[in-house]
Amino acid sequence: MSPPTEIVCPIPQCRKPNNLESETCQACGTPLREYARLVNHSARLFNNGLDAASDSRLDEAIESFAAVVHWCPSDLDARNALAQAYFESDNDRAARRHWDQVLERKSKNEIALKGLELLAQRAEKKKAGKKTKKKKTRKKGAKNTAKKKTAMRKRRKKI
Ligand SMILES: [Zn+2]
Repeated sequence: MSPPTEIVCPIPQCRKPNNLESETCQACGTPLREYARLVNHSARLFNNGLDAASDSRLDEAIESFAAVVHWCPSDLDARNALAQAYFESDNDRAARRHWDQVLERKSKNEIALKGLELLAQRAEKKKAGKKTKKKKTRKKGAKNTAKKKTAMRKRRKKI
């Protein structure tokens, strides 16, 4: 991607392209410096997140993407990346939360839809895994159930 040569006014009714060096928008007078700093800062964070993710430093990736999303909640790319990083670090609940939020804003976002599909597949696998385990260690499972019942009885006595 080539570096930007202009800065588009962030005011939705304006959107006038300005020279990168402009202090304010030529059309509406909106200050552009702070906005540019914010955009650049979030771009740097986002790229840092991508680098960290490709290097398997998932905690750092999550931190970076979360910061971008914090500054710009409507940044769906960053939110998808954040969800993906959570998914890769096995935090399914957080991944689902962010993919859901993407779909709240854009119901047909393909990355988020695919993400939820992956989560569903993983949940299925986990379920299947548990079933297999239970069969192998049926005695243990029975004991656990007994323990739970004991605990329930104790609680009732307290009431
Ligand atoms: Zn403007």
